[in-house]
Amino acid sequence: MSNMNWINRFAKLGSEFSAEVLPSPVPNPTWVARNEALSQSLGLPQDWLNGPEGLAVFSGNGLWDGMQARASVYSGHQFGQWAGQLGDGRALSLGEFKSDKGTIELQLKGAGKTPFSRMGDGRAVLRSSIREYLCSEAMAGLGIPTTRALCITTSPQKVIREDIETAAIVTRTAPSFIRFGHFEHFANQVSAQSSDNLKQLADFTLANFVHSSQDFSDNPYANLLYEVTQSTAQLMAQWQSVGFCHGVMNTDNMSIMGLTLDYGPFQFMDGFNPNHICNHSDHMGRYAYGRQPQVAYWNLFCLGQALMPLIETQELAMRALESYKSSFADAWTSKFLNKLGLDVSDAPDQLEKDKLLLNDLLERLAAEQVDFTVFWRRLSSAVTESSADAPAWRYVSDLFIDQAAWQSWQVRYLDRLGQLDTTKCQARMLKVNPKYILRNHLAESAIQKSKIGDHSEVETLFKLLQSPFDDQADFDHYANLPPAWASSIEISCSS
Ligand code: AMP
Ligand code: MG
Repeated sequence: MSNMNWINRFAKLGSEFSAEVLPSPVPNPTWVARNEALSQSLGLPQDWLNGPEGLAVFSGNGLWDGMQARASVYSGHQFGQWAGQLGDGRALSLGEFKSDKGTIELQLKGAGKTPFSRMGDGRAVLRSSIREYLCSEAMAGLGIPTTRALCITTSPQKVIREDIETAAIVTRTAPSFIRFGHFEHFANQVSAQSSDNLKQLADFTLANFVHSSQDFSDNPYANLLYEVTQSTAQLMAQWQSVGFCHGVMNTDNMSIMGLTLDYGPFQFMDGFNPNHICNHSDHMGRYAYGRQPQVAYWNLFCLGQALMPLIETQELAMRALESYKSSFADAWTSKFLNKLGLDVSDAPDQLEKDKLLLNDLLERLAAEQVDFTVFWRRLSSAVTESSADAPAWRYVSDLFIDQAAWQSWQVRYLDRLGQLDTTKCQARMLKVNPKYILRNHLAESAIQKSKIGDHSEVETLFKLLQSPFDDQADFDHYANLPPAWASSIEISCSS
């Protein structure tokens, strides 16, 4: 029973866009985690996360009336190369329904093979499902656009990866899971039908998910490219500002709505290192932390290329794409100055000097690979103290080996703070410098416990990360520097 209003708009686009496919059942499913907060905010019926029917549906063992299980087809560029047709190989849309927060699409990830599974088994393992569940909620807690996870179920069914692992299914939600790759798919086929499909997809996206601002152009498809460029630029600034590395920024993992999508080998950086590579399979460092903004721009060009038959005017497409440079730079500068307690609009005449101060700091942090999260949070505590000898400042200084270099920067910063209301600066900083992030080793500890049936640590992290900016006294130790073993964790694409 599920008295929801299923509208299934994407399914109605037809068989060129998605294939009907039923989830493959698993034996003896159980719950791992349930996001009651999301369920409530969407106004979902109580029984979704509480009854046997919900457990059956979210483990791929049944469908409610009105649901239409379908896998969509897309293509994409992977690691800079055209990869041809991909598609939902293990994701399965159950349909779209009207919620209290607008229309929401529901997807199972790991519910078995689809026509797009290629060599894969259509399954997901417990470890990667927990990582997706926790990280998407952590991103939501940080205020960063993302798909959201509703629940995880598991089954004794075994899944073969490098080792034999346990199967799990994560249910995720978003207004839309349309990717850059959906557009690339139709643009790279040569038939009159594929041109129609491309236009249909663009019109569908414009009508439902990406609303064009009137002031860019009177060409709707150029407006679409412009809006996606803008939301992607904002997303990149937000990722960079919290040290988030996605790990697999292929065009098929890029959301048309500028959401963080497809959590695989992601990582919140520990020590600040622009060259940091979180994906063990990324041998060339294409998706290193410092390259993410550039890669997003490259990916937008792929989208632009795909939309060219609709936009028609190259100059317009280029202008939409070019807007990335200043939008990203402005958003990045604004976010990072906020991290320092400064604001672009407070003192425009100081902007160049402030930017220099910021860049010199980032150089210092990179030179010593200072812990990115701990540094900003300690700095946030120190700014109300005017003397460098105050304990709060010594706590920051302790993070640096080259004391002389650090102190010469600190003097400049204290001088700048001297012109400001530092209580205001601090309030600003505590809203953008999180205390708690999902470090790899924290996720790893929760996963190890869950593997032996104890899901309590998943629950603890889940609650903690919903409010990453708040001091949560009982959980102080979760904000500590990572232990030595954290750097030996290797996360690859295999999940
Ligand atoms: P990803 O790197 O997770 O974005 O996956 C790239 C493509 O491979 C997507 O089309 C996925 O649906 C597909 N894929 C990844 N893992 C599996 C799997 N275990 N079974 C089937 N398809 C998969
Ligand atoms: Mg993917």
